[in-house]
Amino acid sequence: MKVAQDVLCEVNNCVYYVEGNRCSASEIYVVSHTGNQAEDQKETDCKTFEPKAH
Ligand code: SF4
Repeated sequence: MKVAQDVLCEVNNCVYYVEGNRCSASEIYVVSHTGNQAEDQKETDCKTFEPKAH
């Protein structure tokens, strides 16, 4: 099975964000807001997100 090799992300106030909509985290954890399934993309989020210090 192929697994994701690259992550594109536009959240530019995350400590892992890299110019060009890239992510520098060694791995990311995506969660669902509705248990472990989701009906659409609005119900998912990156739990690895950490805000940059201002
Ligand atoms: S950790 Fe999540 S929110 Fe942060 S840059 Fe990576 S994919 Fe985006």
